[in-house]
Amino acid sequence: MSEIQGGCRCGAVRYTLALDALPRTYACHCRDCQTWSGSAFSQQTLVPEGSLSLTGSLAVFELIAPSGRVSVQRMCPVCHTRIYNTNSARPGVAVVRAGTLDRSDELDIAAHIWVKRKQPWLTLEDGVPAWPEAAPAAELVGALTEH
Ligand SMILES: [Zn+2]
Ligand SMILES: [Zn+2]
Repeated sequence: MSEIQGGCRCGAVRYTLALDALPRTYACHCRDCQTWSGSAFSQQTLVPEGSLSLTGSLAVFELIAPSGRVSVQRMCPVCHTRIYNTNSARPGVAVVRAGTLDRSDELDIAAHIWVKRKQPWLTLEDGVPAWPEAAPAAELVGALTEH
């Protein structure tokens, strides 16, 4: 098993993913992700929460959606880099900010969601699954695990 590591911008938080290979990632182009990342989209991946081990403490921010789902965001308390979140709708799954991985230059994009909010200058690669809004969880997981 290779070491897959990442961390925040300032180095106070470091983590390891117990996975055999770099996970495939997806891009979320929704308005919330644009606001939260300060960028065009957020690039993230889904991993079992148990595969993630962290060093350093985390600041936690809970966001309750109108649906009642609770999103628990974890970030570095020093530099405020978001590391991952969990959601009450998907217990046991960690949504990791893929740009925090040390090998982020090797990542690929296996799916795009919320493309109806995509910034107009951005052209998506042909053949990569894309959904206008959120993807059904099973289909998104399928796109990420397909090789
Ligand atoms: Zn930090
Ligand atoms: Zn989003």
